[in-house]
Amino acid sequence: SSTLVWLRDDLRLDDNPALTKAAALGNPLTVVYVLDEESEGIRPLGGAVKWWLHHSLSRLDAALDAAGSRLLLRRGSAAGIIQELTRETSASSLLWNRRYGEPERTVDADVQSWATEHGPNAESFQANLMFEPWTIRTGAGGPYKVFTPFWRACLAGTEPRRPLAAPGKLPATALSAAGEPPAGDSLESWGLLPRRPDWSAGLTRTWTPGEAGAHSLLEDFLEGPSADYATGRDLPGVEGTSRLSPHLRFGEISPFRIWHTIRDHFPHGEPADLGVFRSQLGWREFCWQLLYENPSLAIQNYRPEFDRFPWETPSAAELHAWQQGQTGYPLVDAGMRQLWQTGWMHNRVRMAAASFLVKNLMTDWRLGEAWFWDTLVDADAASNPANWQWVAGSGADASPYFRIFNPVTQSRKFDAGGKYLRHYLPELSGLEAKAIHEPWKAGASGGPGMDYPEPIVGLPESRARALEAYQRLKDS
Ligand code: FAD
Repeated sequence: SSTLVWLRDDLRLDDNPALTKAAALGNPLTVVYVLDEESEGIRPLGGAVKWWLHHSLSRLDAALDAAGSRLLLRRGSAAGIIQELTRETSASSLLWNRRYGEPERTVDADVQSWATEHGPNAESFQANLMFEPWTIRTGAGGPYKVFTPFWRACLAGTEPRRPLAAPGKLPATALSAAGEPPAGDSLESWGLLPRRPDWSAGLTRTWTPGEAGAHSLLEDFLEGPSADYATGRDLPGVEGTSRLSPHLRFGEISPFRIWHTIRDHFPHGEPADLGVFRSQLGWREFCWQLLYENPSLAIQNYRPEFDRFPWETPSAAELHAWQQGQTGYPLVDAGMRQLWQTGWMHNRVRMAAASFLVKNLMTDWRLGEAWFWDTLVDADAASNPANWQWVAGSGADASPYFRIFNPVTQSRKFDAGGKYLRHYLPELSGLEAKAIHEPWKAGASGGPGMDYPEPIVGLPESRARALEAYQRLKDS
């Protein structure tokens, strides 16, 4: 008999209950990752995330190797592959950590029922969310629709469990009937890395995918910006946040590990700012609960009245200007260029850039969501649509539609000295702080020989147009 561990968005050895159980069982082991682009409803991965996945799998393979095991790679419809591999390795135990998206749960349920019928003992574990969606319910038994009471209910329950240490040594690799370890794909053959053009240099400079990278970011955060998180997190020009999002996206670090590392780091009581940080982790859990309850979150308005919203189709030139950071509004453009260059954008700027597209350009939020999905290294099936709908006003506990971020006011308030703007907009780097937020007023944009464009829409007119459209929606 042998054990089969099926890894998915949990690419780590630390606090990985399925792997810990496999180590305890001690039977010969197969650890597999399946690239599943075939099962019904699975959302195809975006480009930036594919880049991340390649490096994450390569680091995971090395870590498993160091623990005496190896990573098997297979590609195709996951349910079929897991069944095949169970037979090939005569697996008696099938272990995985739970997923929460509907298409993924359907695949897992199929494998579970196949296992019940055909023998291997299938067991699943809680690893990637501290509060599983079905466990946090209102008094009436339904899901929460507003974040604050949701998070209060999470905190009122038992403390998230302590993380499990990584197994130091894993059992030897299981062999097939022919006495061979099961054969798999080479990572290179999956073609996850961009070629022609290879746009990944900025990502390589910015990130270290994998578990070790995640743990060192957490350490840096706790040693540095965490104590000022409540204010620092709003300033795009300083490293005021953890940057753990892509690592959490791939499960390279567990939320339980983050939760308790904070506790252990401040044994005599933690600064209040860490409570704010914990509640951001809570937003992640809330987004997953929203997706769990609303599987179509990425394609359907959470609030159906928005189905009647008169979105306008942006011209190709407008959409391109937004995507490439050429709208003429420095904060929006710096953010969109940060996204293009590094695969990540600061949260405050994400809100401003998304609001600009959805409100000033009156573009359907789904177009923006799709662009982020393709370009973010942290593109997450729950957090991306939930946040886009939050900005659009069509989501749960959303910012009301009439709250329209003013990119100039936001820029003055959160990047007063222009440090962030200068970094991503070198063509404006010669401008002083008072001019950089509105370069057109300083005669520094749009003119002949100038590299930076004139604003593509006026703020007062586009704001009035959006508010009128919203009023029509309310009146209809
Ligand atoms: P920190 O401030 O250090 O926060 C710690 C962790 O809390 C984050 O890593 C993340 O897991 C979680 N978190 C923080 N803010 C949010 C939030 N608003 N919603 C959900 N979780 C949150 N986040 C993603 O992880 N993936 C996405 O695809 C994504 N798309 C977004 C799209 C838009 C339009 C907006 C406005 C926000 C989006 N966010 C998304 C949320 C947020 O911007 C990022 O989680 C955050 O910027 C990541 O940086 P950090 O790890 O330094 O965050």
